[in-house]
Amino acid sequence: MKVKVSVDADLCTACALCYDELPEVYEDAGDGIAKVKDDIGGDGAVIEGELAERAMEITEECPSGALVTEEVE
Ligand code: SF4
Repeated sequence: MKVKVSVDADLCTACALCYDELPEVYEDAGDGIAKVKDDIGGDGAVIEGELAERAMEITEECPSGALVTEEVE
């Protein structure tokens, strides 16, 4: 499975869950608000395998619905 990951910063409440749980994909933008890591391509990056599966799980756990994770071909 491959997924495209992004964060809607306007919805993020800076709870830290995503970058605590999956620091390979998400990071603190500096003010607690999450962003997709520049290392993996930043907003809209495509990831696969176990990281993609974890991103899907974390997306469901985000309390504010700020994580946007879409399956791609
Ligand atoms: S889990 Fe959601 S609300 Fe919490 S820091 Fe990540 S994007 Fe923001």
